[in-house]
Amino acid sequence: MGEYRLRCVSDGSVQPPYSLSCPRDSSLLRAEYKSRQLEIKELPGIWRFMDWLPVKGIIEEATCRPVTYRSRGLAKELGLENLYISFNGYWPEKGAGMPTCSFKDLEAPPTMQMLLERDDGSSLVVASAGNTARAFAHIASLTGQKLLLFVPEKALERMWTIVPPGRITLIAVKGDYLDAIQMAERVQSREGYTPEGGARNIARRDGMGTVMLDAAITLGRTPDHYFQAVGSGTGGISAWEASLRLRDDGRFRPELPLPRLHLAQNIPNAPIYYAWKGLEPEPYQEEMFDDVLFNRKPPLDMPGGVRDALKATNGMVYGITDREANRARDLFEQSEEIDILNAPAVAVAALQKSIEEKSISSEEIVLLNITGGGMLRLKEDHPRHMLQPDVAVSSWEDAIAFLEEG
Ligand SMILES: *Cc1c(COP(=O)(O)O)cnc(C)c1O
Repeated sequence: MGEYRLRCVSDGSVQPPYSLSCPRDSSLLRAEYKSRQLEIKELPGIWRFMDWLPVKGIIEEATCRPVTYRSRGLAKELGLENLYISFNGYWPEKGAGMPTCSFKDLEAPPTMQMLLERDDGSSLVVASAGNTARAFAHIASLTGQKLLLFVPEKALERMWTIVPPGRITLIAVKGDYLDAIQMAERVQSREGYTPEGGARNIARRDGMGTVMLDAAITLGRTPDHYFQAVGSGTGGISAWEASLRLRDDGRFRPELPLPRLHLAQNIPNAPIYYAWKGLEPEPYQEEMFDDVLFNRKPPLDMPGGVRDALKATNGMVYGITDREANRARDLFEQSEEIDILNAPAVAVAALQKSIEEKSISSEEIVLLNITGGGMLRLKEDHPRHMLQPDVAVSSWEDAIAFLEEG
């Protein structure tokens, strides 16, 4: 189970376990699993897809997984016959139990399990504007692993868990998400710390890839189209990689084209959109519809990155305004009867746009990734523990001074 070799996408060279980069170029690494066919295991949550996750064991308490269901309400509103929703949030009535309400709950468990198996006692370092930090905080609290979070001060209100917080050090960064990333980079190269790796982390990507796996199992085939709101675009890479494995598996209609990626960004902070369309980027805007969708340096041009994923799938990228996203969220919430985060509303707006532009037709099989939702629903069921910052810093020197004292 979960046996694999790591290969550079660019030249196919095999690299040592846990590598994050390739020796010759900027290529991503990809896991090549020993099991060519996906055998569903009788295990909780995403661990049922363990054949295609880079782990040997599981975190038993991490029990959530994507839930794929056929839409009635939104499908009717949009005039689609085969709209499937991958709900990645908290909605117990549908079997969706993501403890921090976003699909980052698919990335954190395999990453933390991989680190447990590596067993070098290091602290994982994560920089995040919110959802990633919350997901990792939850898992680290379950396993007792050490975690060091860098979070912009503005995002502190999003730092909570529904379980008592574990060995988490929370550094509040006086600055934005980019400042938090840069500070984390300074710290994670030091002894005793491990970088989480972002798009380079195969555990994150293959964790997110379970969205496509669950859909394929539910449908008995891969979908024609995949819609997702992106910041870094890592979810798009993951969906593509999962569909390549499913094609190789041979049981999910391998003769079909790969699912077409439809990636949605929120303009004006939409570097993937402008780069793909060959447009001059608009100036950065401080306020965003959902700042989890912003990434200044998306993994676009390296081998195996977002551009390759779009090319291989005949993909599309959409630029969505706040206004379009707002209306799409209302439409989704009224027609599907669950609250969603702002980010996935951007994907819903892209779906509307693709219908208007006739990029998809009404009978095709569409998979809409709702990357986060059910926050209101979760608050009804669970008291939350707010994570308190251990220190607030404005430079990496201050951060290191604090960590060395401790
Ligand atoms: C992180 C996140 C995204 C964007 O994910 P990518 O890494 O760009 O694929 C979308 N929606 C939500 C809710 C997120 O937390």
